[in-house]
Amino acid sequence: MIDARLLESLDNATKDCISCGFCESVCPTLPASDYDLSRGARGRVLLGRALYKDLKEKGATEVNVADSFYSCLDCFACVHVCPAGVNAGEVSDIAKEIITATGSPLESQKKNVATMIVNSTMKYGNPLGLRKKAASWSEGLEFDGSSKTLLYTGNMYQLMPFSKSMGAMKAKLGNRAAERIAGYFKSHPQFIKLSGMFQDRTTREEMENSLRNIYALLRKSGADFNYLGEKEPYPGTFLYDLGYMEEFKEYANTVADLFRSEGVRRIITIDPHTHNVLKNNYPGVVKNFDFEIVYYLDLLDNKMFEPGEEDIEYHEPCYFTLREPVYREPEKTLSLAGNVHKPRRSGKNNFCCGGPSELLYPELAHSVSERRREQLEAGRGRRVVTACPICYANLNRDRDVTDIANYLSEHIKG
Ligand code: SF4
Ligand code: SF4
Repeated sequence: MIDARLLESLDNATKDCISCGFCESVCPTLPASDYDLSRGARGRVLLGRALYKDLKEKGATEVNVADSFYSCLDCFACVHVCPAGVNAGEVSDIAKEIITATGSPLESQKKNVATMIVNSTMKYGNPLGLRKKAASWSEGLEFDGSSKTLLYTGNMYQLMPFSKSMGAMKAKLGNRAAERIAGYFKSHPQFIKLSGMFQDRTTREEMENSLRNIYALLRKSGADFNYLGEKEPYPGTFLYDLGYMEEFKEYANTVADLFRSEGVRRIITIDPHTHNVLKNNYPGVVKNFDFEIVYYLDLLDNKMFEPGEEDIEYHEPCYFTLREPVYREPEKTLSLAGNVHKPRRSGKNNFCCGGPSELLYPELAHSVSERRREQLEAGRGRRVVTACPICYANLNRDRDVTDIANYLSEHIKG
């Protein structure tokens, strides 16, 4: 039985569509899927409408629409061009929640990967059960254990070496092998930590370097903060993104309880996805979620940067530019240390890096990121700087993309 509230949300989110197709002109997954209309913004809205009608009239659907919604990057580029104010990303979010709640079929491999991630997050507080590895970047660094301010990495930088190598493994071994591996971990969650063997070592080095640079930038700015080390849990973003709302609610409350028990009042976030989930999704499922959430760039002492002459190209994270409120601090801070340029597809016309699809649809993610690299590099040869670990991991080939923390660290006076 479908929750009436969810059905009503799907109705409201899809009913105004006039099928004009404007949203297809900006949707990154449409060209990346060789113009498979079910993987474009209009296709998602029309399938969402068909799903609504089937569920309303028959109480079930026979059409397997899951791939259409799960391949959505949630970038929200589509809503900015829709004359009717329809948001295909939001339609995908509602449909995923319905698909998850009704147990509708999701192609088996993706189901294995999704279930493996959900089970492991619920059990170990990390999608791959790797909390010890997630804290290794902080070895030898000092933290203020009595501070009520927490540096919260959300494990996001630390997960990139694994998602990158899992995508590469799937491309190398094929779908069936990846399905079997994910299926094995799903059935034997006690061995999930073995997935720690699958990591891209170069990406791990780069991500740990960024984390240490973020720490150093904050310290040089005079900030005091604690860090939970191996106790730090992942925020549960995948649970939300995959539509596992009941699990997300339970998990978010566990994380909030941990923050409270550690005496935390203020949380410093360091990536757009963790920042968004704490700021916008936790308050909806956790009662009295009254922590102050602040982004690390807002705490930096901007006087410490040396003006730079280098021409750099800034790739904006979708969460900072396509959602409200727009967050401009990364660009402002970067312009203190370099000449910032942006590609044509920027601002409200931004083009996603493809990263959010990396785990379930690595080929699609790769195709989107190749397109974005072409837009960024076309004939310019400038260094590309990103402000999100997912963008960084997905756009980087041969170390030609730089994380904002690493760029800023190169430009500290003295
Ligand atoms: S732009 Fe809006 S109205 Fe037009 S097809 Fe897309 S969702 Fe429908
Ligand atoms: S949110 Fe992004 S990927 Fe999803 S339909 Fe809209 S433009 Fe396409």
